[in-house]
Amino acid sequence: MTKATLVEVTNTLHECPECGYRNGFHVGFKRIEPNGHPHKVTIQLVCPSCSAVFDIGLKAALELE
Ligand SMILES: [Zn+2]
Repeated sequence: MTKATLVEVTNTLHECPECGYRNGFHVGFKRIEPNGHPHKVTIQLVCPSCSAVFDIGLKAALELE
């Protein structure tokens, strides 16, 4: 996965800032601390058209154990 570009969500975010694709995003997950517990991840947005990756500051903890 390529390096994510930080994007601030000011109202809605449906359109890719890079290519203008207007139908939303796929999601990807990247671990923040690979060996940490619980596993913290950042949830990234991936453009289905140009594959640009965006980080809006959305994070989660995976508690699988
Ligand atoms: Zn795009």
